[in-house]
Amino acid sequence: MAERKILQLGVPLLWERSRDVADVKGASVRGVIQDLDDTLAWFRATTGWGRGISAPQIGELLRISFIHVDDVLSRESRLMSESETPLHSHERLVLINPEIVWRSKETFTLWDDCFSFPNLLVKVSRQEAIEVTYTDPRGKPQRLRAERGLSELLQHEIDHLEGILALDRRLNDHSVATREAFAQMEMTPHPSGATQVWKHQPEGAISQAASLNPSSARRPRLRISQNLRHLWTKYISRR
Ligand SMILES: [Zn+2]
Repeated sequence: MAERKILQLGVPLLWERSRDVADVKGASVRGVIQDLDDTLAWFRATTGWGRGISAPQIGELLRISFIHVDDVLSRESRLMSESETPLHSHERLVLINPEIVWRSKETFTLWDDCFSFPNLLVKVSRQEAIEVTYTDPRGKPQRLRAERGLSELLQHEIDHLEGILALDRRLNDHSVATREAFAQMEMTPHPSGATQVWKHQPEGAISQAASLNPSSARRPRLRISQNLRHLWTKYISRR
C-alpha cells in the first residue's frame, strides 16, 4: 500500500455521495484504510499539517474517514461506547459509516481548509459539539462525543462522504481567501505547533464560547488589536 493522489477541487467525484461499507473487515476496505493512513502521513511529513482525510479524496466512494488524533483534538472529546475513554489513548480514529446523531445548538465560525484545495481557506459555521456513531475497523460499533476542534473536523470529513465540500458551506460569497491573502490578515503560530487563526466574532459569541469553556486553559484567548477589537482565537483544522 502507498500514499495516493489527493483529488483536487474541480474533480466531479468529490461532489458525489459515498456508499456504505458493507464488508468492514474485507481486504479491499483494509487496503483503503491503509492508503488513507499512508496518504495522511505523507501529507503531514511533506507539509507539516493535516489531521483528517476521507476516502473520496483518494478516489474511493466509500464512507470512511481517517483522523490523526493529536492532543488538541482529544482534549474535550471521548469515546462514549468505551466507558467514556478519552481520545488521547488513540493515535488514529478510523470511522466507517459514520453518522452524526446529535448536534449542539451552539455553533462557531472558523476558516476551514482542505487537502483538496490546500491554497484556499473558507469561512464556515460548525456545531460546537456533535455525537457520531460509526463502526471501527474491528467491526465494533462506536459512539463518539466530539467537541470543538474534533467536532468541526468530523463535520468536515463526514461532509466529504456526502459529497459536500467546505467551499459549498461558505457563509457568503466573500467567505473565501487564498492562503497567501489569509496569512496577511491575522495568523499567529500556536505553541503546540497547530495553527492558530484569529477570527472575527461578535461579542455574544465570545461570551458564549467562554461560558462553554469554564476552565481558563480552555477559554479562548482574547486579543485587542488596533482596529479589530473583538477577535478571539482557536486552533483550527489544517488538514
Ligand atoms: Zn477536506
